[in-house]
Formats: sequence, C-alpha cells, structure tokens
Amino acid sequence: MEDKPKTLLQAVQQYGDADASLDEVVDSRWPKGVVCPHCEADSPMFLRTRRIWKCSKCRKQFSIKAGTVFEDSPIGLDKWLPALWMIANCKNGISSWELHRAIGVTQKTAWFMLHRIRLAMQDGHGGKLGGEVEVDETFIGGKARNMHAKERAEKIQGRGPDGKAIVAAVLERGGRVRAQVMETRKKPDLQAMVREHVEQGSAVYTDALKSYEGLDEFEHQVIDHAVAYVEGNVHTNGLENFWSLLKRGLKGTYVSVEPFHLFRYIDEQAFRYNNREDKDDFDRFKAALSQIVGKRVTYKALIGKEGETTEAF
Ligand SMILES: [Zn+2]
Repeated sequence: MEDKPKTLLQAVQQYGDADASLDEVVDSRWPKGVVCPHCEADSPMFLRTRRIWKCSKCRKQFSIKAGTVFEDSPIGLDKWLPALWMIANCKNGISSWELHRAIGVTQKTAWFMLHRIRLAMQDGHGGKLGGEVEVDETFIGGKARNMHAKERAEKIQGRGPDGKAIVAAVLERGGRVRAQVMETRKKPDLQAMVREHVEQGSAVYTDALKSYEGLDEFEHQVIDHAVAYVEGNVHTNGLENFWSLLKRGLKGTYVSVEPFHLFRYIDEQAFRYNNREDKDDFDRFKAALSQIVGKRVTYKALIGKEGETTEAF
C-alpha cells in the first residue's frame, strides 16, 4: 500500500483509485484476511473485475460495503473515503451543501452520506468514565429563529428551555466525552445518565443545579456559578469548551437542526473531541473507518416522520 495520505488532497488522489480505496477499507475491516459476512468462512474467492468476493462455503457474493454504513449505496469508495476524511477532520463540521459541492453528488445524497458517516462516528462506549469527571447540561437550538424580535429577547435572556433541546454530557478529564439529548433535566434523568456512564467513587464536578443533589456514591463537588467558575479542581470548564465547539458547529454549519437529528450531530462532535489529541488527520479518518461495520441506517429511518431535513445552508 502507498504511504498514508496526510492531507485531504492526498486522500482524494489516493482513494480516487478504486483498488487503493478498496485496499484501505479491507485493511481496516479484515486486517487478518477477508471473511464472509454471511457465514464467517475465510478465504473467499475475489472476483477482480467486479471487486466483490464469492464465499467458498455459502456461495454468496458480497461487496466491501456489505454490513457497513455504506451498504446498498451506489456511491463509490472514491467518494465515500474523502467524505469520511472531511467529516472526521473538519473541526466545525460540514454541511450537506458543502459536501455536495466538494465531491459532486446531489445535496440529498450528500445529506444521506453525512448521516451514515455520523452513525459510524457514534461512540461504541466501552466501560465507564472515572477519575475526575465533569457533568453539565446545556440547551440547544429551539424556536428562537421563528420568533419576533421582542419575544425572542424575552425568551433568550436566561437559559430557559422554551422549545430548546436539552443536552447533557459527562467528561473524563484527559479522556472521553459522552453527550446525549435528554428528555428533561430533572433529577431522575440527569442522575441516571451520570450513573450509567461514571464509575462509583469517581470525583464528579457539577454546577449548583438541584438535580445533581444526592449523587452520594461519588465524590461529588459543586461549583456554584453564581459565585465562581473555578475553585481549585472544581469546575466544568472542559465541558464548557465542548459546548462551545458543539454550538459553533451547529451555528456555523447546520444552522437549524431538527431535534430528531440532533443526537447525530452531537455524536459527530463528540467523535472529533474524543479523537483530537495525539492524532493526525489520517488517524481520525482511520478511527472513523474502523467503526463503519455493523451499523446500518436507511433513508426512511433517517427522515422518519419529520419529513425532509430543514438543514439550512
Ligand atoms: Zn459465506
């Protein structure tokens, strides 16, 4: 295989070659040799002209896309891989209109590609967070765009939930962030999230919201933002940083996100946040590529009952 690409330009050049792009995904998916996704038999026959395999045991044919987020997509890897590269590495995200123009597919196709890639970027979890953990929640989006100016001024003052989505996150300092859309920010919901993601006995830092009272199995310390933002180790500045990245991405690129889709944007931003340190663009690309298997989403499932996306441009 060629040297690993360092830039988007090199990725486009390298993966524009059908064999090179296939090699890259095979290397990521089956580092020990190709395995039939239907019956898991090894050593299938490679049908070179069509770039598919035929299983010598169950006799079924399969492509590299079978059982991945690329499944049933007519888009070639020469476009999928640069798209994956861009999304894994653009700090503030990328809109379907930008992707549409950059790689030459329709905006609708680009929108679907983005969502499939976000699905790949979803955290597979893997144990609880521990050590020093920040917990915080914030409000995102809402109906402010459609309000009259006066009404808007009234509603945006203070952090009222008026039609806004609630997002909560836990961050292990020096480690990973996990964020999710919440039904409410009441005690049962927020505390269930903390208990799901944080090891008992960890140091947990929150603000003075009453919902956090009673996290007794943790070393819970509170920073009252009415008084100060930092007291020694006790602060939620790591999550403040994550919120600002998330909001910048949503504001600059997505503008208006259906609540229905919000969790996918959050997954995307959490992926970049969790892969920000000690990694170059190729590493982030490979990290996303390593997560394409075993996930599928259909267009119907994506649009759900919400109809077409209202993503702005
Ligand atoms: Zn088979």
